Amino acid sequence: MTIQSKKKFYINGEWVYPNHFNDFEVINPSNEEVCAIISLGSQKDTDAAVKSAKNSFLSWWKTPKEKKLELLNNLLDIYIARSKEMANVISIEMGAPIDWATNQQSKSGEEHIETFIKKFNEFDFDNYYDEEVGNYITREPIGVCALITPWNWPINQIALKVLPAFAAGCTMILKPSEIAPLSGILFAEMIHEAGFPKGVFNLVNGDGAGVGTQLSTHHDIDMVSFTGSTRAGKLITKNAADTIKRVSLELGGKGANIVFADADDNAISRGVSRVFNNSGQSCNAPTRLLVEKSIYEKAVEEAIEVAKNTHVDLSNKVGNHIGPVVSKIQYDKIQRFIKEGIEEGANLAAGGPNRPVHLKKGYFVKPTVFSDVNNEMTIAKEEIFGPVISIIPFTSEEEAIKITNDTSYGLTNYIQTTDKAKAQRVARQLRSGMVEINGKGFAKGSPFGGFKQSGNGREGGSWGIEDFLEVKSISGWK
Ligand code: NAD
Repeated sequence: MTIQSKKKFYINGEWVYPNHFNDFEVINPSNEEVCAIISLGSQKDTDAAVKSAKNSFLSWWKTPKEKKLELLNNLLDIYIARSKEMANVISIEMGAPIDWATNQQSKSGEEHIETFIKKFNEFDFDNYYDEEVGNYITREPIGVCALITPWNWPINQIALKVLPAFAAGCTMILKPSEIAPLSGILFAEMIHEAGFPKGVFNLVNGDGAGVGTQLSTHHDIDMVSFTGSTRAGKLITKNAADTIKRVSLELGGKGANIVFADADDNAISRGVSRVFNNSGQSCNAPTRLLVEKSIYEKAVEEAIEVAKNTHVDLSNKVGNHIGPVVSKIQYDKIQRFIKEGIEEGANLAAGGPNRPVHLKKGYFVKPTVFSDVNNEMTIAKEEIFGPVISIIPFTSEEEAIKITNDTSYGLTNYIQTTDKAKAQRVARQLRSGMVEINGKGFAKGSPFGGFKQSGNGREGGSWGIEDFLEVKSISGWK
């Protein structure tokens, strides 16, 4: 397979070589081979990108909404035309099977562009004169933004930041994950092709210690919008403190899926598949399966069935199997969690350590089910980020709510019951940014974000645009 050279950055409307080369190998997790080489940026590259974003800020802010919408529509057309390319690079860089990469990963980018165009079209910046106090209130773009994104849903996360930042009137520097940078690079090509003015969007590749930190500490950056681990979110918050940046965080999760005895017949299989999808690498995966005692044994059997029927295979094969996890680091981390689950006394009901026997290389993990887990065990507390589910029994509604909320995270929780009043009552008591009842999926354009250590931002639709705005109050207006 040819190794792509992708060492240039997109700064001030041009593809430019880095100030000096600092090569970084991008690994295809299906075969452990190098698929591309990028360069990690330096302070000089970061400074050049920030300068370009700063210089273009006023003119982009003042660009009429109609013109911005025209450019966003161009981008949508180009994205649709090149969506297969997008699916291919995502499949190679992070191991999503090609059908999943096409129908879920790449498709999410298109859907976000579409939704943001609609929401931006309707968006009321709400400038108004407050008669009572005599102030004119405006909402304005916050300024120059650093957008730092992860590898697990790469274009989904990028679109959730770039599109609302454009709409709000901000200019930006994107630093995609160095583990899966190819989708971000392709997206930058699309933005260039769409005709956005130079400097509005810039891309610099790099790692957290380098470009990530340079952006978080930079004097001329007004906001960092970050999606990734809680670990990095804390560091970014500290690094941004000296310059009092706004820091919008979308972090990890340890969602619970509460299955009551009166749930529909597909509740267990739906919940378990939801964890295994994307090889378990979704922040909102319902990795703690809470099952009411009276249906517990049956639920464990059903979960084992799903694990046995979840095929693991190469990302370039068609079909609805799951692929590898993204990297050796992630593979090793997941293996450690599986061993800890066994050592702490959970029952290994399916899957387990090592890769599936039919795969000789690649970062493949067996779909794994632990039963008889309690909420104090490491596997119930930590975000594993692999195809591993922990089943925990409960006896009452109160206990289910207590276990669900007993976590430092608060992203998405799930409820399965045919009793509508119970579902609504429980949903209101769960401490998370999102709750999904009976498999009703999350709609694009709804506010996506977490409570507690799952973050503080809300992405998607008009909520996403709001995240990038400041409020100004002008007295003596009349
Ligand atoms: P990560 O935190 O290791 O990296 C994410 C990004 O941050 C990368 O671009 C990385 O280079 C950068 N980074 C790392 N350390 C940094 C630092 N000190 N300063 C600045 N930038 C830094 O996360 P990951 O492994 O790429 O992604 C997986 C994590 O993302 C999981 O915890 C997952 O739950 C989370 N996630 C959250 C959401 C959400 O919306 N809540 C969505 C997707 C993923």
